[in-house]
Amino acid sequence: MVIDLTELKQRETIWKKQAGPEEIGLQFPDFAFTEPVKVSLRITHAETQFVIRGQISTIANTNCVKCLAPFTLPVTEDIGWVVQVMEDVQARLKEEDTEDYWFIEKGSAQLDITDRVRESILVGLPYHPVCTSECRGLCARCGANLNEETCTCDTPTTDGRWGPLKEIMDKQLRRGE
Ligand SMILES: [Zn+2]
Ligand SMILES: [Zn+2]
Repeated sequence: MVIDLTELKQRETIWKKQAGPEEIGLQFPDFAFTEPVKVSLRITHAETQFVIRGQISTIANTNCVKCLAPFTLPVTEDIGWVVQVMEDVQARLKEEDTEDYWFIEKGSAQLDITDRVRESILVGLPYHPVCTSECRGLCARCGANLNEETCTCDTPTTDGRWGPLKEIMDKQLRRGE
C-alpha cells in the first residue's frame, strides 16, 4: 500500500484505498481475514511535513474464547503520524523513524504504508475475543453452550455452609463407612 506523494494536493488530500489482506501480509494466529482492509486518510501537506490522520478498518473471523462459537469481529483503528521531509540523504540517515515520526529525503515520491497498516490492525485485535459482552460461555461441567440452552448442572456446589459436612462425608466414604 503506497501513497504517491507527487499526487497529493498542496494543502489537504483525502486519500482512500483498500487492499486484500494477503496484499499487506495480514496474518495472525486465531484470526482469519477475508474482507478487504480499508484505509481512509486525511493528509495535510505543509512546507516540509505531511501530517497523516485517519482510520483503518476490516473484519476478522475468530472464535469466542468463552463459548467457542465462530463470529466476525469488526476491527477499526485510528492511525496518525507525521512524515518529515529532510534536506538530503545525509540528513535522512541521521534520523530514525519512530511511531509518530517518519523521515524521508527531499524528492521522495512514494510512501509505503503497508507495514504501518498491518501493524495497526494487529495491535487492535483483542487478546481474548468474546462474541458479545453478554456471552455466558460453556458449562464447565457438561459443556453445554449456555447462550443456547440451560443445562441441569446448575445446582450450587459451593455453598459454604455445607462444606465442613461434605468433608466429613467424603472422609467417611473414603474409609468405606
Ligand atoms: Zn461467546
Ligand atoms: Zn452443564
